[in-house]
Amino acid sequence: MALRQIRVDGDDILRKKCKEVKEMTERTRILIDDMFETMYETNGVGLAAPQVGILKRLVVIDVDYETPLVLINPVIIEREGEQTGDEGCLSLPGKVAVVTRPSRVVCRCLNEEMEEIEIEGEGLLARAICHELDHLDGILYKDVADGPLRDVDYDEEDEFEDLEDE
Ligand code: ZN
Repeated sequence: MALRQIRVDGDDILRKKCKEVKEMTERTRILIDDMFETMYETNGVGLAAPQVGILKRLVVIDVDYETPLVLINPVIIEREGEQTGDEGCLSLPGKVAVVTRPSRVVCRCLNEEMEEIEIEGEGLLARAICHELDHLDGILYKDVADGPLRDVDYDEEDEFEDLEDE
């Protein structure tokens, strides 16, 4: 496994539409492993392939660091409710903004074995799924935020900060 360089806002690749993954290859398996390693190393809870410069519809998420999820060619098929809270992104280091997302989503995708699965997410997982899927279409959270980007203390930065219970 290896760490990959995270592309930051201003890099054109973050604005491109990603292509579907047609088959699982050794190269893609290595990419998935590297994305998990890079995400954990940077204390993120989600990472999309374009954030490491690869234009594939591929996302990794682990909101509790116990449930690693691989989402290939993901599509949200159900959305319900609303949650409003701070959101950050490894591609916009040191920044957060308030974003409203559905409180629950169901996502249809392929897993690492290219089997069709459905992932149901509430709360932080629903937020992470929406955020990461947006990356696959070149959308950053600042595009859909309710308010302006704010600076955060870098040491306290998280990919997502869930304010639901506050
Ligand atoms: Zn992001």
